[in-house]
Amino acid sequence: MASNYTENFTVEKCKTSKINDVDFDDLKFGSVFSDHMLVCDYKNGTWEAPKITPYQPITLEPSSKIFHYGQSIFEGMKAYKDDNGSVFLFRPTDNCKRLNISAKRLAMPELPEAYFIDGLKALLELEKDWIPTAEGSALYIRPFMFATGQGFHASPADSYKFIIACAPSGAYFSGQVKVLIEEQYSRSANGGVGFAKAGGNYAGQFYPTQLAKDKGYQQVIWTDDNTHDYIEEAGAMNIFVRINDTLLTVPTSDRILDGITRKSILSIAEAEGIKTEVRKIKVSELIEASENGSLKELFGAGTAAVVSPISGFGFKGQDYELPKLENTYGALLKKRITDIQTNKVDDPYGWRV
Ligand code: PMP
Repeated sequence: MASNYTENFTVEKCKTSKINDVDFDDLKFGSVFSDHMLVCDYKNGTWEAPKITPYQPITLEPSSKIFHYGQSIFEGMKAYKDDNGSVFLFRPTDNCKRLNISAKRLAMPELPEAYFIDGLKALLELEKDWIPTAEGSALYIRPFMFATGQGFHASPADSYKFIIACAPSGAYFSGQVKVLIEEQYSRSANGGVGFAKAGGNYAGQFYPTQLAKDKGYQQVIWTDDNTHDYIEEAGAMNIFVRINDTLLTVPTSDRILDGITRKSILSIAEAEGIKTEVRKIKVSELIEASENGSLKELFGAGTAAVVSPISGFGFKGQDYELPKLENTYGALLKKRITDIQTNKVDDPYGWRV
């Protein structure tokens, strides 16, 4: 039965919760979904009021433009619960802003920030019990928007759906990954959509990533589309390199996603007194640093894994191993950021909501 939640929101609760069917001690990443979702429709040039409904299938016409022209964008964020049962989000307005940056690039309508933030808060109020508390686990939140409007003509749709669904999740990657530096394929190009979280960016990554997996690597390090001389991202994460005691990452651009974990890590590293540099990094510099022993760490950074350490990389048929360090920047920065996210320490930055 529908009831008024706040002035604008309607809430239809599920009849029976699925929560008792879920083994919270054995959570994979993003594969079971909570009881409710937030749905918001864009029609006739305006966003209708958000609704919270049971998590359920969506019905679409075969002519819906999402199936043909790929107008589809998403975000990824997490909710955490502390020992007192209080619920926290991490820099959620940044996700909303980035969703709207993606929307603009894909000729989709921008969503009012209040619908995103208040809608998410209302949804989490209902889904509180779905937030796992074990180390490394969280409620993964997937806001996404796609074209429901119909027609086989290649033009932007006139209607869209925005949904927020949630998945209680364990840690994203276990252990270290071996990566392949990509020499042929690209995930993005100048003037393209690499900076947007567009579904198609990820579809385009699957095939080269599978080729790398066939060769025994778990992930691809993307290089620039023009020369393949510069490293850009690590799979679906931003990349960090430690050379001697300096922590480096590459500048964001048309081709690189402006990751929230990346910018948080840069701020925390600086506060920890770690020397940071944001500049382009050549593949040849990585190899030289590996050969002369100055390459200490390589890791990916993103919401899902927070920090994903890299044990070695392959390039032009040769493998390079990273040293096994006791106290890594990666582990320190991961601890600092997750302590803030999970309310274990003060948050001097005002990131926690
Ligand atoms: N790069 C890409 C391509 C991604 O998909 C992600 C995950 N959103 C990131 C970087 C990391 O971004 P964030 O820290 O905001 O999760």
